[in-house]
Amino acid sequence: MPELPEMQALSERLDGALTGKALARCDLLGFTSLKTVSPAPVELEGRTVEGVGRRGKYLVLAFGGGMRILVHLSQAGRMDLESPAKATKPRGAVVRFVFGDGTGLLVREFGTQRKAGWWVLGPGDEGPLATLGPEPGDEAFADLIRRDDSTRQLHTLLRNQHVVAGIGRGHVDDALNRAGLSPFASLKSLAPAQREDLLAAIESILSEALTLERTRTGALSDAKLGDRFLVHNRTGEPCPRCGQPLHRVSFESHEVVYCTACQTKGKVLADRRLSRLLR
Ligand SMILES: [Zn+2]
Repeated sequence: MPELPEMQALSERLDGALTGKALARCDLLGFTSLKTVSPAPVELEGRTVEGVGRRGKYLVLAFGGGMRILVHLSQAGRMDLESPAKATKPRGAVVRFVFGDGTGLLVREFGTQRKAGWWVLGPGDEGPLATLGPEPGDEAFADLIRRDDSTRQLHTLLRNQHVVAGIGRGHVDDALNRAGLSPFASLKSLAPAQREDLLAAIESILSEALTLERTRTGALSDAKLGDRFLVHNRTGEPCPRCGQPLHRVSFESHEVVYCTACQTKGKVLADRRLSRLLR
């Protein structure tokens, strides 16, 4: 799933490509993907894009009159610019935004899940942004890491978009490895220095990923990001800190990758039950 760095770089590209262009129409291609009823997409027609940004993992297209479109790519969504806009309906197509100069922005989703979505928000409506936690760079997030005594496991806590917006499975694995912390540790279990290590690791992992993502050539966005991570999706490969083979804990829908030497004092985490012993 694209996380903060990928969405940030994508928003920067789209800001350059779309700002100043008027929206001609929205072609709904996947009928469960539009998450709002009012305002209707037709109310955006003729409005000019004032800027493209990001909040958490949401792409935000701001239009004149205070209206916005949000797009969430979920696990395997992807965007493509078309010049000129096509009339096709590719497999997994979600929506195509067509602009007055003929440019098209196609959102589609690979795989079988249909979870990518988009929202049309009127002035002042925050929609799903209303419940997002702070951005990782916000002081409110640093305060939380320094002061909170949550007993939730770090790999769960940091992926919770209500706690902090923009981090997902990939960058959380990488950041915990860099910080030398067990995925099953909690904030409550951390010493002040470890909390600072965690903040620094999150900051550096996200900023390095953003730097890399800004060098992307070819496709506007990529549904398959697995090879971009340092430890995520790299079970069996050498730990970037110590060179030992990385381990994983498998869950129903995902896995957590970690280094026993750097993160769990040599212990192999077999499952949730065993992991409780390691806090
Ligand atoms: Zn290691």
